[in-house]
Amino acid sequence: MSARKLIITLDGPAGSGKSTTAKQLAQRLGYAYLDTGAMYRAITLMVLSRNVNPSIPADVVSLLPEIKIELTYIDGIQKTILNGKDVSEDIRNIDVTNHVSAVSSIREVRQFLVKQQQAIGKPGGYVIDGRDAGTVIFPDADKKFFLTADIETRARRRQKELEANNVIVPFNKMAEEIHARDTFDEGRDESPLVKPADAMVIDNSNMTPEEQVDYIIRLIQD
Ligand code: C5P
Repeated sequence: MSARKLIITLDGPAGSGKSTTAKQLAQRLGYAYLDTGAMYRAITLMVLSRNVNPSIPADVVSLLPEIKIELTYIDGIQKTILNGKDVSEDIRNIDVTNHVSAVSSIREVRQFLVKQQQAIGKPGGYVIDGRDAGTVIFPDADKKFFLTADIETRARRRQKELEANNVIVPFNKMAEEIHARDTFDEGRDESPLVKPADAMVIDNSNMTPEEQVDYIIRLIQD
């Protein structure tokens, strides 16, 4: 494989296995993993903790100068630090999940984060997951993938993830939540979720994470 460290983007809808795949892929390649969704979640956590309405863009934007997000890596795994505090777990709570799409649809929020994401990934050696990684953050990335799976598979995956944290959500409710988030992310004016024209599409409904990572590594080597 090339000695130059690549920029690899993974985009796709909620529950498409991006984060599991990106983490494992980064580990196998000796790269770092940049979870851009965690940064939108960190801003959403700040918005909620200040009792700001996520649907009023001007109020959300007024908080941006007070927000400092730092990412640290332990064994290649990202920790998300918001104003000096490790919020890696807090940003996964349901309240944040329910409001992150509204916050991430605000143009100034996206500009604020995309600049930081570009600065982090620019040297190469990153697997970057998100909704706009291969279209807006790194349109010239070395390798682009678009992961997808049927909604049933995605809802079951999210259910399992939450169960691991003792949060029980009925399947129908989970499928509805995922569908609502997809619709919002795909329909927004600012950097909607779209498949980059030059991305390789992988439907992983019937693949284990390991099979998928092996497959992606083969594609990268080719
Ligand atoms: O990847 P994750 O599901 O944690 O992302 C949470 C939300 O953050 C997404 O539903 C989307 O609204 C937003 N997001 C985004 N652009 C990215 C990454 C995430 O708009 N690059």
